[in-house]
Order: sequence, then C-alpha cells, then structure tokens
Amino acid sequence: MKPVTELPALAPVVSDWMLNLMADKILLDSLFETWGSPLNIHYLPAVDKNIHTFRKVFEKHGIPHQLFYARKANKCKSLVKRSKENGIGVDTASFRECLEALEAGVNPDLLVVTAAVKTEKLLKLAVENNVLVILDNRDECDLLNSIAKKHNKQTPVGFRVSGFYTDTEKLYSRFGFDIDEVLSFIASNCSRQGKYSHLTYRGLHFHLNGYSTEERGAALNQCISMAEKLNSHGLNTRFIDIGGGVLVNYLKSEDEWECFRRELKKAVKGERKEITFNNDGLGYQMIDNKIQGALETYPFFNEGNGDVFLEKVLNYRYKNRNSASELLQGRNIEIRMEPGRSLLNQVGMTLARVVFRKKDMGGRWLVGLEMNMSQLQSSSADFLLDPLIAFVPTPKQPVEVYFSGAYCLERDIVLKRKIALPNLPKIGDVVGFVNTAGYMMHFFETQAHLFELSVNLSLQTSKEKYETRDFENDVCVSYGNS
Ligand SMILES: *Cc1c(COP(=O)(O)O)cnc(C)c1O
Repeated sequence: MKPVTELPALAPVVSDWMLNLMADKILLDSLFETWGSPLNIHYLPAVDKNIHTFRKVFEKHGIPHQLFYARKANKCKSLVKRSKENGIGVDTASFRECLEALEAGVNPDLLVVTAAVKTEKLLKLAVENNVLVILDNRDECDLLNSIAKKHNKQTPVGFRVSGFYTDTEKLYSRFGFDIDEVLSFIASNCSRQGKYSHLTYRGLHFHLNGYSTEERGAALNQCISMAEKLNSHGLNTRFIDIGGGVLVNYLKSEDEWECFRRELKKAVKGERKEITFNNDGLGYQMIDNKIQGALETYPFFNEGNGDVFLEKVLNYRYKNRNSASELLQGRNIEIRMEPGRSLLNQVGMTLARVVFRKKDMGGRWLVGLEMNMSQLQSSSADFLLDPLIAFVPTPKQPVEVYFSGAYCLERDIVLKRKIALPNLPKIGDVVGFVNTAGYMMHFFETQAHLFELSVNLSLQTSKEKYETRDFENDVCVSYGNS
C-alpha cells in the first residue's frame, strides 16, 4: 500500500447543472448581488428523475405503490409543488408542513401525518381535512378519536409498528407500537364497537433507523403477516408504508472513501499530519493507545442505493420465506414509501462567497465564508465531499485550507475536513457544496447573531445557460406566528 502524503480527496458525484452553474461566474455574482450569501439552489428536474427511478422498481414487480416525499428533509415549498405535479404524496411532520401542503393544493388523500409529537392543533387540521394520521401511542389514539368524534368524522389512520425481529435480534425503537402488542390493540379498539369508533383502520407503517435493507425486508414481511391476521378480524389493510432511509451515494470512488478512512485513523493515531480540523476523529478516538469508536458520519460512499436499495428490500427472504415481492402478488396491498434524502439526490447545491483568507497560529489557511456552520449541517459528524470552487483561472499554486464560518464559535469550521485546492481562493470567489438538498440546508439552520436565514432558489427546467430570472425565490418565512 502506498503511503499517502497529500490530503485524501473525496470527489463528489455531480450533475451537469452544478458544473454549468459553477462555470458561470458572472451569473453567480449576479445571484449573490440579488440575494446575498449563502444561497441554496434546487434543480427540480432531478426530483422527477428520482421519482421515476423508484416507480420503475414497483412497476417491474407489479406492486401497487405510492411515494410520499418526506418534507422534513428540506423546507422549500417548490419541492412540495414538484411532488404534487408528479402525482406523489407528501409526508408531513408538523402542523405547518401539513398546512402548507394543503395550501399548495396537495390532495388530502395524498397526505400523511407522521409527526413524532402530534399537537391538538395538528390533529384537528388532519381530522377536518380527512388526512391520514400514523399513530404512535395510545394517548395519541385517545386524543385523535375524541377530536374526530367532536367533528363527527371518521379519520383514516395507520399504525406505526416497531420491535421487528431480524434473524438475530428484536429491533429497538422509541417510536411506534411493539409488533407483539399492536395486533390485539388494533383488533380490539378499531372495530365499529371498539373504543376508537371514529378512527378507520387503513394500514401499517414503519420507518427504521439506519440503512439496512435486510431489516426493512424483515419488517415488511412481518407487516404482511400481520395484515393477514388483521384481515381475519375483519380489518382490511390497504397499505403498508415502509418509510424512508433509502441510501444515497455521494462519492465517485470507493478507493478514495477507503483511503480517507484509513488516513483519518492514522492521523488520530498521530502517524500523519492532521486531515481534519484539530485532528477531529469524527468518531474515532485513541483510548488506551488503540483506535476505538466508529466513523460518525453518513456512509457517503455506498453501492446499494436508490432503486437497488428498494429492490433488495422487496426481494429479501426473511427466514427463507417468500420475498415481500412474492407475498404481495395478487394481495391488493399498496406499498408506500416516504423518501426524503433519496428524493433529493442531486437536487441541491449550497453556494457561499469567500470573504477573507488568513493564516492561523499553526500556519493553517482559513478561508472565511459568508455563511455559518448551521447552514451545512446534518446529524453526520462532517459532510465528506470536496466542494467545487468557481475560480478566476490563475497558474496553479496548490494549497490546503479549512473553510470557516460566521458564528463566534471556535468550532464553526464549515467542513471539518482539510481541503486541497489548486489555488488559494480570492475574496469574492464562490465555494459550492454539492448535493446538499437532503437535510444539509435546513435541518439544523439557526439564526444566531440574527443572521438572515439562507435564501432558497429553484430552477424549474433544464437549460444550457441560466439567467438570474430563471431562479425562483422560495420564500420560507420561519419563526413567524402565523
Ligand atoms: C425522516 C423520515 C422519513 C424520511 O427519511 P429519509 O432518510 O430522508 O428518506 C420518512 N418517514 C419518516 C416517518 C421519517 O421520520
């Protein structure tokens, strides 16, 4: 194995629209002039493509299906509208997500409420509009039934199920009803004479932590069995919703991904110069002179993503039984899924202007960006993709930099990873972080220092060359009292 002396690269998977945009410095300057920095760009034709990818799999298997875009992955209304135009539904996780989807004209039959905490206000909205509610616990059932009763309505419901069995264990989740109890709970309470006479049972739902296709396959198999048992109690399961968590691949090269992880461990062990800010192990630690822990980032390189991931779930043989795909033939159960991240693959880009360059005490280059850490943040310990830089071309003078943000925190380093560049960026140069639409833009965005929230722009169509007026501002006013 060759020792790596330079910084390991992590070349991202990119789309033409991203490259075209980064190559047009005049356009970029005009966008910043109009809307400031940072800017989140959304290329909506990529949404259509992602929807098509999943639909094709279901069609191939001959399984009735519906997709619901999990809106919590990105707050832009343009994505809700695009989902609607594609004839798919929207998975809403709060009162405002649900209200905005209704206001955008999404058919209530294509809405689902899966919020972890369902306020009375949210449930009332669902009841009034006949929106399906996925129930998580008894208290929620009591509240929803009483609201439905007051409004003299029958509200469609599904039950979130957890505690599924795999070949080796029972999966823990803080969400949902335990699979060992939910059957009798539904059967005894959801009949016409039952306690929840205003709730109409429609189906089963799960959303599993992590990215295992085996676990999802096992869960789907167990839900199909349960649907059969419910049927013998006179309860018809119209759908099984397999949630989200479909993997997205962000990186071009497996070798680079492996190399990065190897070099990170070496750096943490002190066997090479740091490759992350202050030698942050991103989950790896030296304890008792040994490297311990695990990388606490998203698995940015992976092979079984998108349609392949869904295929694996549908084809998985739990305990060597028939696959879900086989079991579902002729059963008339709609399989639903709620992709968030995977519906936004290649949809987004975050752009920021370079404001300053400086050398710190340790002689490291810091490139100050007009943005802050919360505007490129998910639950992953770092976003492990090389950014794209719009440069005015100059002779190469390779440099290694960290990108720093605008919060008054020592830790506001936008990428923890040190990045190798052909030149030191100049003031006014543009740094582009690619594939950020899923979770990176909004999930943790805060307004410390009273910084404005980032501006979100959408492109509706694919074009060779864009003009400023092609970008539509998605006004997402937050923190209001409306
Ligand atoms: C977050 C979430 C999703 C979407 O998950 P992704 O990983 O973005 O696909 C779907 N359903 C539920 C219930 C969720 O909580």
